[in-house]
Amino acid sequence: MTDRNDDLFARARVVTPGGVNSPVRAYGSVGGTPRFLASASGARVTDAAGNEYVDLVASWGPALLGHAHPEVVAAVQEAATRGLSFGAPTEGEVELAALIADRVRFGDARPIERVRLVSTGTEATMTAIRLARGATGRDLLVKFAGHYHGHSDGLLAEAGSGVATLALPGSAGVPAPIAAQTLVIGYNDPAALDAVFAEHGDRIAAVIVEASAANMGVVAPVPGFNRLIADTAHEHGALMILDEVLTGFRVHPAGFWGLQAAAGEDYLPDIFTFGKVVGGGMPLAALGGRAEIMDLLAPLGPVYQAGTLSGNPLSVAAGLATLRLATADVYDTIDAASARLVAALEGALTDAGVVHSVAKAGNLFNASFRASAPRDYAEAQAQDSFRYAPFFHSMREQGVALPPSVFEAWFLTAAHGEEELRLIEAALPAAARAAADAPA
Ligand code: PLP
Repeated sequence: MTDRNDDLFARARVVTPGGVNSPVRAYGSVGGTPRFLASASGARVTDAAGNEYVDLVASWGPALLGHAHPEVVAAVQEAATRGLSFGAPTEGEVELAALIADRVRFGDARPIERVRLVSTGTEATMTAIRLARGATGRDLLVKFAGHYHGHSDGLLAEAGSGVATLALPGSAGVPAPIAAQTLVIGYNDPAALDAVFAEHGDRIAAVIVEASAANMGVVAPVPGFNRLIADTAHEHGALMILDEVLTGFRVHPAGFWGLQAAAGEDYLPDIFTFGKVVGGGMPLAALGGRAEIMDLLAPLGPVYQAGTLSGNPLSVAAGLATLRLATADVYDTIDAASARLVAALEGALTDAGVVHSVAKAGNLFNASFRASAPRDYAEAQAQDSFRYAPFFHSMREQGVALPPSVFEAWFLTAAHGEEELRLIEAALPAAARAAADAPA
């Protein structure tokens, strides 16, 4: 029997490549028809056929407070009455930049003095890399296998997220000379970091790293690894770009960097990138860093970057409202819900006899179908990933929407209350049994 989701998917495939506007949405790795969402509120989403799900996707991260938080929606509505886009500076963007800079600090460390607003995480990382190259006069970039930093040309080599889901080594359409500027090394591997700097140290502009990997499943940095990246890069005159697009303002008020600083791992990245939560569900992202680096951007410096919709007033209103509402209790609520679901997930998979590990980074988590939590991309890929599709579909049939790929983190919101958590906990045992019964 077909429903409105099937009808829409059939139509979508006629007018859109693969029926979607971002690859993982197509359900390629889990099969079946993607749910076309009609509305979302709090911790729940409703599809085009009227089915409601408790949501663990949260728009892939932005919905920290829950979907359509009334105060965020009101801020956007109010902004809309004053104009949709000006292409001129606004008071709101000054406030948002100041708020971002103010939140990312620990003790005396205030690594962000200037912020530039852009529209997507891809733009933020792309600009950060251009800035690092402009600042150092060098070309090479080091990235880690399985890390995803958006879809700009140089960053698609052995990337996570949809590139991992589709099992692509990279992307067609990237000229070989551009791909050759990116050196890909294994994550959580100090020897590989040493080796790449020993060989190319005076040509490396920057190392870009997800603050914690979360696009090959959640893979936290081993203690000291982020500090080692900063130290090694700085020893060789290179910069560290800390990509907090996914983790920023989600795992801690000051991002994953703040979480690590609070735990005693202090290091100073040169450029931070943000997205997702910082725009509260609207298209907005940012990069920030010390004035001496950021001021190399046009109009002050020679590194060009621009955007018709940069600092869009509706996006800025959503970002400001979200960050102002993202107080310590929001993080406490999400952390507690995360700990509870991790325990329930572990318990259900253990009871069903499924070989698994549940990886965590702050309040981010997800399950891998292997005995130990992966430390890098090779380990993340070496799992019984065929078990995820039946697990995913069982959860969905029981009213819980998970990310449609084993390589994605599960996202909670502050709106996940007792009722939603119970519903998820109740659904897990049957899903775990479906995973156990999956044909190899
Ligand atoms: N960096 C990281 C760590 C991400 O997780 C993502 C998106 O998932 C991006 C960059 C790209 O952001 P966007 O999808 O907004 O371009």
